Amino acid sequence: MSWEEALAAKAAHPGAVPVQGGTDVMVEINFDVRRPEALLDLNPVRELAEWDVAEDGRLRVGAGVTYTRLIEELGDRLPGLAQAARTVGSPQIRNRGTIGGNLGAASPAGDGHPPLLAAGAEIEVESAERGVRMIPAAEFFTGVKRNALRGDELIRAFWIAPASGPQYFSKIGTRNAMVIAVCSFAIALHPERRRVGTGLGSAAPTPRRATAAEEFLAAELDWERRRPLDPAVARRFGELVSAAASPIDDVRGTADYRRHALAVMARRTLTWAWNDYAPGRKVS
Ligand SMILES: Cc1cc2nc3c(=O)[nH]c(=O)nc-3n(C[C@H](O)[C@H](O)[C@H](O)COP(=O)(O)OP(=O)(O)OC[C@H]3O[C@@H](n4cnc5c(N)ncnc54)[C@H](O)[C@@H]3O)c2cc1C
Repeated sequence: MSWEEALAAKAAHPGAVPVQGGTDVMVEINFDVRRPEALLDLNPVRELAEWDVAEDGRLRVGAGVTYTRLIEELGDRLPGLAQAARTVGSPQIRNRGTIGGNLGAASPAGDGHPPLLAAGAEIEVESAERGVRMIPAAEFFTGVKRNALRGDELIRAFWIAPASGPQYFSKIGTRNAMVIAVCSFAIALHPERRRVGTGLGSAAPTPRRATAAEEFLAAELDWERRRPLDPAVARRFGELVSAAASPIDDVRGTADYRRHALAVMARRTLTWAWNDYAPGRKVS
């Protein structure tokens, strides 16, 4: 099946549920969470499993590229996303699961989302009738497990710039593997623009950025002389990240714990990132 045929099928059957790796869809069907009228298997669409470098230098990564391939083939260029990918499920899940499926499911806890937000990625979606739409990651998530896709649209790819500075992802779970995040955090430093990117996971109805924290930090960091990180700046950054969250109490953790953990993860990942950017001047 070609991409055009997939788009035509989705237009003709807007209720059809797309399946890529199936690691979310099949679980929902097995547990009777949903009974789709039809499934649209995207695995035969070869374009979705490809990635390339676009004219503007960004990577265009097909929605069907698995976590395993992302780690192996793009880990050096997308270190934040690759770090997150390494925490997803198990080798079996990473061999099947995709960022496209993560975006489709749009869980507040999806591990791919914080690094996409921190990197300022864009999601390419398409419909047979209206063509391509580019949606900034920060506008893609519209509610708990809801995204900006319309009934006749499919996710084609995500566009993301190769890292221009250090990137880190941190996730808290009740164990080290096969676990949904209690909360998570991603940071990306963009030294060429003197900007900071952030992404919070499992900390609000949708994954989101901490924009006040980004702006504060971008203004405080000594990009030029790369002086060591001021602990007071790291602390304030942590507070602002925590303040950007609107977490809930649930079986995985309390809202208070999540707020606290986000501040810790923000300070910690910032310290790692700044130590990479300003080597030889490490603070711990
Ligand atoms: C045991 C287990 C452990 C897991 N651990 C983690 C974890 O640690 N972290 C994490 O984030 N997730 C985890 N997951 C959830 C899941 O693996 C991820 O969300 C994964 O990214 C889904 O990708 P997929 O290709 O399998 O998606 P699928 O199940 O095929 O699809 C998921 C959703 O996206 C839609 N979709 C897929 N492709 C497209 C497309 N091209 N256009 C439009 N819609 C599309 C589908 O219709 C569906 O709604 C786990 C799941 C299992 C079963």
